[in-house]
Amino acid sequence: MVLEKYSFGIGDRFAHQGRAQLDALINAKKHGVFIVPVWNKSYREHNIIKTVPADTRVEADEAVKALDWQDAYYVDADHIGLKNVDDFIESSDFFTLDVADFISEPTDEQDLQEFIRKQNKYIGTLDIPGIEESFQIVPEMVQEIAHKFLYAIKEAGKIYRHIESVKGKDNFVTEVSVDESNEPQTPVELFFILSAIAEEGIPAQTIAPKFNGRFNKGVDYVGDLPQFTKEFDEDIAVINFAIKEFSLPPNLKLSIHSGSDKFSIYPPIKKALQKFDAGLHLKTAGTTWLEELIGLALAGGDGLAIAKEVYKNAHSRYDELCIPYAAVIDIDKSKLPSPEIVDGWDEQTYASTLRHDQKCELYNLNVRQLLHVGYKIASEMGDRFIDALIKYEKVIAENVTENIYDRHIKPVFMKD
Ligand SMILES: [Zn+2]
Repeated sequence: MVLEKYSFGIGDRFAHQGRAQLDALINAKKHGVFIVPVWNKSYREHNIIKTVPADTRVEADEAVKALDWQDAYYVDADHIGLKNVDDFIESSDFFTLDVADFISEPTDEQDLQEFIRKQNKYIGTLDIPGIEESFQIVPEMVQEIAHKFLYAIKEAGKIYRHIESVKGKDNFVTEVSVDESNEPQTPVELFFILSAIAEEGIPAQTIAPKFNGRFNKGVDYVGDLPQFTKEFDEDIAVINFAIKEFSLPPNLKLSIHSGSDKFSIYPPIKKALQKFDAGLHLKTAGTTWLEELIGLALAGGDGLAIAKEVYKNAHSRYDELCIPYAAVIDIDKSKLPSPEIVDGWDEQTYASTLRHDQKCELYNLNVRQLLHVGYKIASEMGDRFIDALIKYEKVIAENVTENIYDRHIKPVFMKD
């Protein structure tokens, strides 16, 4: 199973927008850009919404059938580890092995020394094609990187081999993710991480490092843009070099997590993809759920009432909803309107406050982030929420498709 050059991770909390999401990729294909869909949902999301991984498979299969999508598509067991992978094995064919929690765990001394010895030939000046400056690699550097990452990559190896023992070799796509770690990884660290991945025999097709800057859920990138641009270019160069050097899968590419809505880094990403003729997996952050809220608000009537109720409850249960996501949101509480004010909003005011249009005066990134983590409230509404999704399917679908196509596919993947 060989993942295509461009792939798009479409998370869908309530599993009702598969067709609307796929529509955006069909539109891209019509315009000459071929991107395959990957429906991703993490253990955490399933747990909060009370869905099971098989539901994501049903959603994907149904959307593909309904729209007659003849190309490849995938179901991603997102951010899984050894303790929860079994729930996903049957229904998934893409596995994001999350080993960020194992960074800096102590490694067996013999393993450590063996790995370090194998990196000996890189001590000295390391030139990587596509990167202007040379890296000076000293033994202490390799030791430090090994201490930091070897245990985590060995853990990824264990998860990989467990999946392989059930599904069989080459029957699934493997991603290794370290994006939820505390510190970003440097290109040199990425190089030796890839060396360790190859040593473990993991046929990784995507790798999700942590980049510099903040990748908050559903809002724009916050950070040093020139530094990100340099880092992104260098990471691609490192991957291309590592593929040859370590005999990794030739289609290995970067995966960007919480990649939706990072509008300010899309131009440099697009430039880099074209410059290196590189592939990309762009994993979105479940913002389709926000388009559902926008669609409900625009529908008016009981749709708008539900959208307001979600805000009201999210506002009063702020801590409970925000704490699990504390590392990936930055909300200025003082800029959140009171539920009484929101109660007075009309359709357009609600939709424009939430929709990620930075040129719109009403857009409020605090409201957007709060509602982003507020999907638990909608899930507690049960049938009432789901019935509204069905009743207002048309207006919701328009917003879902437009968001993916206009605000994501066009600025990242479309040739200028
Ligand atoms: Zn992630």
